[in-house]
Amino acid sequence: MVIRDPEEGQQMQKREKSFGIQMLSVQPDTKPKGCAGCNRKIKDRYLLKALDKYWHEDCLKCACCDCRLGEVGSTLYTKANLILCRRDYLRLFGVTGNCAACSKLIPAFEMVMRAKENVYHLDCFACQLCNQRFCVGDKFFLKNNMILCQTDYEEGLMKEGYAPQVR
Ligand SMILES: [Zn+2]
Ligand SMILES: [Zn+2]
Ligand SMILES: [Zn+2]
Ligand SMILES: [Zn+2]
Repeated sequence: MVIRDPEEGQQMQKREKSFGIQMLSVQPDTKPKGCAGCNRKIKDRYLLKALDKYWHEDCLKCACCDCRLGEVGSTLYTKANLILCRRDYLRLFGVTGNCAACSKLIPAFEMVMRAKENVYHLDCFACQLCNQRFCVGDKFFLKNNMILCQTDYEEGLMKEGYAPQVR
């Protein structure tokens, strides 16, 4: 039997990687900025700023569906050098994995708890013996891939200590 080290400091993670898009009006007296999409100068009255770069309104498009991202809620998503709208990002990279407790899929962008390589629904991240929930920073223990609270973990140790050793 392998007893894993006590685990500390589980992380709560938000997985969404979105970036804001700003629409700026171009000041007539500044020299025109280059567009990161087509590399030409932006001479329009408005330009978009996203990912620390400047874009024509027509050039900041979703790599999948070609929608103009400046118009679609002013958020863009990137992954593997692709610029995507939320819908396509979800479609392509939508699944986080399976919850280690209930083994159901975790939808993308849902908050998850991580412990080592396991991911859990927030609702599933509880002691699997007494159902105690943990707050961020609480101590929890992983044993045989079960999440345990400190009490149950220590009780388990006690029992093992007194159980006859079978080898
Ligand atoms: Zn352009
Ligand atoms: Zn799209
Ligand atoms: Zn779950
Ligand atoms: Zn417990």
